[in-house]
Amino acid sequence: MEQEVCPNCGEYTDYINSWTGWCASCSGLDLCANCGKPFAKDRNRTRCSTCRKNDWLEKNADEIEDYMSNGLSLIDAKAQVQIDNTIFCLNCGDPVNSGHAGQALFCAKEECRKVYNRYTWQRKKGLTKENALREALAK
Ligand SMILES: [Zn+2]
Ligand SMILES: [Zn+2]
Ligand SMILES: [Zn+2]
Repeated sequence: MEQEVCPNCGEYTDYINSWTGWCASCSGLDLCANCGKPFAKDRNRTRCSTCRKNDWLEKNADEIEDYMSNGLSLIDAKAQVQIDNTIFCLNCGDPVNSGHAGQALFCAKEECRKVYNRYTWQRKKGLTKENALREALAK
């Protein structure tokens, strides 16, 4: 593959952004690990939004089909599956952004993180998941 040198950082690259004339990372972009298309850097994400959307549709295809066979439109079925997949904080009941601390058991609120810390502490002491949760939530 032919490579060019990014005029900003001087590194060889397969991709030069036509707007900035720079490589992906100098342009504030990442290259999708799946399709190779550039996308705006977004924390630790390695795939572009199109691929992430397709992943999600593929993963949830059965559930979506189930809802649609019950008469829901595609949009409603997708929304319903999203609700089904939402994890709620065990401490306060708010929806948890998956990928947050606490393996998505708790939300990022300070009080809930404290419960999570107690939970991991109990787990380190050798308690089962259930007992550690009970202990952590009891205080
Ligand atoms: Zn560069
Ligand atoms: Zn992609
Ligand atoms: Zn919470």
